[in-house]
Amino acid sequence: MVNIFLHCILCRELALETEQALRVNGHCICSGCEARIVGLRAEDPEYDYYKNGLKKVWWCAKA
Ligand SMILES: [Zn+2]
Repeated sequence: MVNIFLHCILCRELALETEQALRVNGHCICSGCEARIVGLRAEDPEYDYYKNGLKKVWWCAKA
C-alpha cells in the first residue's frame, strides 16, 4: 500500500492523504489547520490569513 502525501495549502505541511486531511477540490487542508479554522472567530488576528488561504483554494478550483 502506497501512502500519498499532500501539501496542506494553508501551512504547507505535508499531510497524509487520509480521512484526517480535509480535501477541498483536490487541495488538502491538514487536520491542524482544519481545527484552527473551525475555532477561528472574525476578530482573531489569524482569521484573515486563513480566510485568504481558503480563497486561494476556491480560485484554484475555478481556474
Ligand atoms: Zn495545514
